[in-house]
Amino acid sequence: MFDWIAFDADDTLWKNEETYLQGREVFLQILADYDIEQDDLDRVDEFEVENIQYYGYGVMSFVLSMIEMAIELTGEKIHPGDIRKLLDLAKAMLTAEVEVFDGVRQLLEKISKEYSLMLITKGDLFHQRRKLEASKLADFFQVVEVVSDKTPEVYHEILERHQIDPHRFIMVGNSLRSDIVPVLKLGAWVIYLSDHLTWSHEDDPLAEIIQDRYREVKEISQVLSVVKTLEKLTGIA
Ligand SMILES: [Mg+2]
Repeated sequence: MFDWIAFDADDTLWKNEETYLQGREVFLQILADYDIEQDDLDRVDEFEVENIQYYGYGVMSFVLSMIEMAIELTGEKIHPGDIRKLLDLAKAMLTAEVEVFDGVRQLLEKISKEYSLMLITKGDLFHQRRKLEASKLADFFQVVEVVSDKTPEVYHEILERHQIDPHRFIMVGNSLRSDIVPVLKLGAWVIYLSDHLTWSHEDDPLAEIIQDRYREVKEISQVLSVVKTLEKLTGIA
């Protein structure tokens, strides 16, 4: 039997990327009043990714990137009223309702009876905690880890701290870059949610898929049966 099943949160348990797509739309509407080339507007993603090294992941990073981009692309002519709109956008995103995906609660109710559950999410501590509370899913998790990034080192540290054997640990998530590739590197198991909307930055090619420890499902409701199949196949007891 696996000892621990860990879940990613954003775009795994609840909707997230949709809010960012809407945020980008608002940003583009604001900049539409200025004379900016389409090619420059298409660089939104580039600005965000470049700034991860400074601000990390999350709404604050997203909005600071928008403001920086607005200042740069308008040649410092962006109106303070428009910057205020971006700050309002951030607040709206930070307090948006949390929409849990269908089937998540039912899955967690069943799976938490048999396994210890952990939540591993990256982003702003305050915001991630608020979303977890709003989701009303917090009670299912014995351990909640909010991290700045999801690298093999970060996962290794979490597993060490909780004295978890990677061979008895499964991570479930929608991001190849954050939830799948680094966890496979540690020798643990993964279940990838292939059909959940995901930010393009999180699409890391699976250079070496380690077939026996990698499974793909379209819907989160399939996770429990996959775990059971893996236990049977591998004789993990
Ligand atoms: Mg995610």
